[in-house]
Order: sequence, then C-alpha cells, then structure tokens
Amino acid sequence: MKYADFYLRSIVTPEQFWQDEAALIDWNTPFTQVLDYSNPPFARWFVGGRTNLCHNAVDRWCLPGGQGDQPALIAISTETNTERSYSFNELRAEVQRWAAMMQSLGVRKGERVLIYMPMIAEAAFAMLACARIGAVHSVVFGGFAANSLASRIDDAKPVLIVSADAGSRNGKAIPYKPLLDEAIGLASAKPARVLLVDRGLAPMNRVEGRDVDYAALRASHLAAQVPVAWLESNEPSYILYTSGTTGKPKGVQRDVGGYAVALAASMKHNFCGRAGETFFATSDIGWVVGHSYIVYGPLIAGMATIMYEGLPICPDPGIWWRIVEKYKVTRMFSAPTAIRVLRKQPPEFMRKHDKSSLKALYLAGEPLDETTSSWIAGELGVPVIDNYWQTETGWPILSIAKGIEDAPTKLGSPGVAMYGYKVRLVNETTGTECATNEKGVVMIEGPLPPGCMQTVYGNDQRFVDTYWTQHGGKMLYSTFDWGVRDGDGYYFILGRTDDVINVAGHRLGTREIEESITSHPNVSEVAVVGVEDKIKGQVAVAFAILKDASAATSEQDIMAVVDRQLGAVARPARVYFVTQLPKTRSGKLLRRSIQAICEGRNPGDLTSIEDPSSLQQIQRALM
Ligand code: ATP
Ligand code: MG
Repeated sequence: MKYADFYLRSIVTPEQFWQDEAALIDWNTPFTQVLDYSNPPFARWFVGGRTNLCHNAVDRWCLPGGQGDQPALIAISTETNTERSYSFNELRAEVQRWAAMMQSLGVRKGERVLIYMPMIAEAAFAMLACARIGAVHSVVFGGFAANSLASRIDDAKPVLIVSADAGSRNGKAIPYKPLLDEAIGLASAKPARVLLVDRGLAPMNRVEGRDVDYAALRASHLAAQVPVAWLESNEPSYILYTSGTTGKPKGVQRDVGGYAVALAASMKHNFCGRAGETFFATSDIGWVVGHSYIVYGPLIAGMATIMYEGLPICPDPGIWWRIVEKYKVTRMFSAPTAIRVLRKQPPEFMRKHDKSSLKALYLAGEPLDETTSSWIAGELGVPVIDNYWQTETGWPILSIAKGIEDAPTKLGSPGVAMYGYKVRLVNETTGTECATNEKGVVMIEGPLPPGCMQTVYGNDQRFVDTYWTQHGGKMLYSTFDWGVRDGDGYYFILGRTDDVINVAGHRLGTREIEESITSHPNVSEVAVVGVEDKIKGQVAVAFAILKDASAATSEQDIMAVVDRQLGAVARPARVYFVTQLPKTRSGKLLRRSIQAICEGRNPGDLTSIEDPSSLQQIQRALM
C-alpha cells in the first residue's frame, strides 16, 4: 500500500481508521463510540470499551495452543552477571503474584503505585501487575535524587512504593534505599507501604510497619490467581514525567484503550514486529521508550522483549551485539547518544558478532545527525530509522512506517507525519501554515490520536495552558520543537523552540549549527547555545568534545566548517573544548543550563542532570 493513502485515510476518516486498528487488541466489552471530542482539547478514544493492558501484553499469549511457553521477558544484567528468560506463562504467574502482593498491601483500582526501580525483571512485573488490577503506576527513573523523587511522590500520592536496595552502574552499587527514605521524609504525601526487592547489593534499613520484604511476601502468594480488571478505555493507566530538559517535568497521564491500540498499531506499522521474534530497546523503564517499547509494545505484539541493565561498553563495547546474536534480535531501538558512544570505540567489538538476525535499528530521543546515522547504518548494514516523538505522545509523530510502504528515509530527517497525527508547521508570528522549506513550530491539530496524553496528571488546566493554542478556530498542540518541511513532506527538526537563536536578526536553530560542527571528523559531540550579546542580540557559543584530544583541532578549524556549510552568520563566537557535556539522565543535552551559565545566571532546575560536574567543566572553560 502507498503510505500516502494510509495516512490520508487516518486523517479524513479517523473514526473508521482507528476502529479498524482497534481490532489489533482484545476487548472484553466493545466500545460504543470511537472518539468523543465534545470537550476539546480533551479526546476520549474507544468510549465504553473495556480492555486491559496486562491482558493484551501477557494473558492473551498464554491461551492453550498459543505461545505461552515461548520467551516473553529476557532480563540481562551485565552489572550482576545475571541473565534470566521468562516465558509468557511464567510472566503471567509472576505478574499475578505481584498483583496479589499489591492487593494484600491495600492497593485498589485507580490508586497510584510509585515504582522506583533499577532495570530488573521485577520492575516490569510491578508495572504489569498495576495494569492488571487497574492501579496507576508512576515509574520514576531509578537513582533520581531524593528531591526529584519527593516531588513525584507528592504529585502522585502513591499508596505503595516499590523499590529495591540498589541499582548498579559500572559495577558499582548505587544504594536506593537511603534516597528513598530521604525522599519520603521530604514528601508530604507519605505512602502507607514500601515493598522492597533485596538484590543483596547494599544494606537496607527497614521502617517497622511500613517496609515490606518482597521475597518473604512473594512466598505466601506463589499460587496467586488474580483476574484482570476490565477497565473502561479512558481510565488512567499510568503517569510518567517528561525528561525535564526544558524545565520542570510535566506529569503525563495516559489512558488504557487508546494506548493499547496505538502501541499495537505502531508495533505493526512502524516496527514490523512479529509474534515470536525478539525486540531490544536499550532505554530505561524510567522513560517513555521504556514504557512503550520495552514493556508494553513488544509484549502486546507477542514479541520477546529484552530488559538490559548495564552500560553499552561493559564488559566490552560488543555487549549489545552479543545480545543481538544470542537472542536473534530482529528489531532494535536505541538513542543517538548511545550510538555516539559506540562510535568512539574500536569497531572490532561490534564486528565480531553475528548480527544477521537484525532487520532494522530505530533511533529516537534527540536529533540524529548524519554522521552518526551513516556510521551505524554502514556498520550494521540494515536500515536506520529515526523517529520523532515525545513523552506526551507515547509513540512516533514523525517517522517512516516501513510496515506500510518501504519508503526511503532521508538523512537528517525523522520522516513524514505518522498516521493519526495532523502535523502542522506553524509560523510563530502569523499563526499560519508554513510554506515548503519555511521554518516553523511543529504542532498537532486536535484531537491527538489514540495513545497520546489525556491530560497533565491532576491538572487539566495545566494541560490546556501548557500545550494548546487556538489558530483559525482550530485547537493546536505544540511540541515546542522547531522544524521545516521539504517538498516531499519530510520534516527536519531544528531544535527546541527555546533553542532558536537570533543572531543579528537571523533566526538559527542551534541544531543546524551542531549538525555542521559534528561533521568535522574529530568532533564526537557538541552543544551550541545562544548567548546574549550587546551588539548582535545573541551569538552562538559551542562546547565540543573531541574524539582524539591529542589531535590538533583548533577553534578556528571548527568555525571554518560552519562558515563553509552555513555561512558566517551561523559561526559560533567561541568554541570551547570539554570532555563531557551536561545531560539529563535520559541522555539529552541540557542546553538551557549551559546557556544560563554562559549568561552568568543560575542553571535552574537540575533534578534531571546526569552528572553535575559537567557544568563545572563549562564554567571552567568560560574562565
Ligand atoms: P521536557 O519536556 O521536560 O523539557 P523533554 O522534551 O526532553 O523534556 P521527552 O519527552 O523525553 O522530554 O523528549 C521529547 C523531545 O525530544 C522532543 O520534543 C524533541 O525535542 C526531542 N526528540 C525526540 N526524538 C527526536 C528525534 N528523532 N529528532 C529530534 N528530536 C527529537
Ligand atoms: Mg518536552
């Protein structure tokens, strides 16, 4: 089929389109209305239908004569040197134990369970158990500092927190329990119970009457059978916070039915996942990719999914490819930041593994520069498919739906509008649709398709105020990203609307300048920010990491590349060399903090930062 026809049908007759897609999942009670958009911008999908995410991810595959004994969840940790595969039947048994444990600790439908866990199988059990009984999970990235965790506890007011003694990074245990206790101390909404998985990595203090040992409790629920709760499609399934790249994270609330349908559709049309095959997303359950494409999506498609705890370069930089070889991974999902890390490693590690099972690599999370994309495509010999989306949307907005048509990708572009998304490119000043090659803000005309956020948790007004504006009688959702569309309908993301800089009246995306600088053979990574300037309004300033610091690469060399490719107007006023850039824990550049430091301001909300010492490097570079 031509993708253009498929897309058009999703836009012109969305209700018919999504009614057909809804057949990809099991419903206990059919819906009576595909879409209720009587109260824009709030969209309600599959009204009256009853379904369950855990049923579709797990139980559905355990029917007699089905694939119950095939692998469902493969948990690999190179931190603790453990590897364990659970079949769909075993997964169902574990999830029922977890559901029973949660019920015994007082968790009821609609109540929140906060999951603060490392990348271990129990974290997925806990998520699926919540889904099974209709509790709302809020997964908080393991190892987040106490104050970040405390604010998420206060936002969700969980009755139960599920956690573990420790995570592990590069062979070093990171104790969670002290952080958790501190966070609960700081929070005003105290959870009644804390369920703790003891991995034997770090000592734990137990609070009498509140803290419960998982292994002991599990022993009394071994034969548990907990039926799935059939939820109305629009009941909440989970809360998940955005990465906090641009400021205070927003608590995204998702539904049940729309999300299940969107994941099933994207697994089929975008990821071409087949039941019985293996999917490997290298993300973390603390992020949206982990929710959609480690836990729910692959399982809903009947695929085995890999949960990996460890670094991409330990015990050696071949580890991911060893996993691909061993488990015959067919579809892999990662982020450009991780691929850049691999690009810095000697290539033999990746070359020595048999990667012939792999059919495609999907990358998302930040702009995919041409250098990284071409390099990994060359190494793997499979299509590399960029996809652009957000925590808010839950699944790709822009990409190439290879399951519909084998349309070409274009270097530097995540692709075209995905089915269901009425993507608009809007001129910020006039509010009108941009012409071909004219830069504008990427927006989506309401209603958002199934799977996208329902609201900001507990704050409908914040949802409306943060994301929505009216243009010509239409409600438009802003992605806060800046982009351009070519004559073939391919979009190019130029950066965040915050990251557009204005140099002597020229509007430039920091991304364009970064892309140009990374084309220098000795640059592995760069951040460009706009810094206030008395004469020009703003100037670009670059912080670059060199691949080989001993090679003679100068500030002038870098400037010359930009001059040649974009023109002198885009030339950074200064290029500083550093060995580390400040990033969120999900690997996104914290440009706003770099910019603040360059302008002598306070770096702002740093709850999401990976390593605060990276900011000191910026400070030192400036002095
Ligand atoms: P916050 O909203 O809290 O500031 P965040 O926007 O980084 O944090 P996420 O939802 O994790 O939180 O990230 C979504 C953003 O990541 C997108 O809006 C876009 O800026 C960027 N992004 C994601 N995928 C791509 C991609 N393929 N190409 C370019 N940018 C991307
Ligand atoms: Mg965002």
